[in-house]
Amino acid sequence: MVNLNTKTQHMLEVIESEVEYTRSMIGRDSLSPQVMKAMSNVPRDKFVPDDLKIVAFDNGPLPIGHGQTISQPYIVALMTDLLDLKPEHIVLEVGTGSGYQTAILSQLCQQVYSLEVIAPLSEAAALRLKELGYHNIEVRVGNGYQGWPEHAPYDAIIVTAAAAYIPEALKEQLKPGGKMVIPVGLPHMYQELMLLEKDLQGDIKITTILGVAFVPLVDIPDNEHPDQG
Ligand code: SAH
Repeated sequence: MVNLNTKTQHMLEVIESEVEYTRSMIGRDSLSPQVMKAMSNVPRDKFVPDDLKIVAFDNGPLPIGHGQTISQPYIVALMTDLLDLKPEHIVLEVGTGSGYQTAILSQLCQQVYSLEVIAPLSEAAALRLKELGYHNIEVRVGNGYQGWPEHAPYDAIIVTAAAAYIPEALKEQLKPGGKMVIPVGLPHMYQELMLLEKDLQGDIKITTILGVAFVPLVDIPDNEHPDQG
C-alpha cells in the first residue's frame, strides 16, 4: 500500500532542494508558503494515467496521452510562485493538459480560465477537476495563441507549452500590473522560461528565468479553430 502523504512530503522536499539549487537563476531562496501548501493539497496521482500512479510524486514530467505531458512538480511550483497570485485574481492558463496546474492555480486565486487545444484532454480534465471538487475553474477547447478575450483582462497568465514567440493576444489580455509566465523557444531546442510584467502604464518588462523543456504550443490557422465547425 502506497503512503501518499509520505510521497507528497518527499515531493515537497525535492521541490525545495531544486529551488535552492537554482536560487541564483530564479532570484529566490524559497517559494511562498501558499504555493507549497497548494502543492501539498493537490493529489498529483489523480492527474496521471493508472499505470503511472506509482511514480506520480516523482519530480519529473509524465506522459498523459496524445503526445502531451504533465509538467515536472518543481516547474509547476516555480511558475505558480512567479505569478504572485492573490485570492481576488482572475487567471488565464494556456495548456490545460491533465488539469494539474489548473488545480494548483485554483487554490490561490478567485477564478481560473484554462484553454486546451486537444478536445479529449480538455474534456477529461474538466471531468476530473469537477469530480475532485474544484469549482472556480472553467475549461474550454481553444487556441492559446488567441487567448480567451471574453474574460480579459487577466491578473495573471500562465502558458504551460513552449511558444515560438510571445503571442500578441496574451500580451493584450494581461491587466496592467499583471504577470505572465511563458516558456519561449522551438520544440526540442533550447527554451527559456520568461516572466513578463506589465506596469500600470502598459509597458512590458521581460525577465528570462531559466532553461526549460516543454511540449510545443501549437498554432493553428483561424479557419481550423476547434470552436468552429
Ligand atoms: N499544465 C499541463 C501541462 C500540459 S502539456 C498539466 O499540468 O498537465 C501542455 C498542453 O498544452 C498540452 O496538453 C497541449 O495539448 C496544450 N497545447 C498545445 N498547444 C496549445 C494551444 N495552442 N492552445 C492551447 N493548448 C495548447
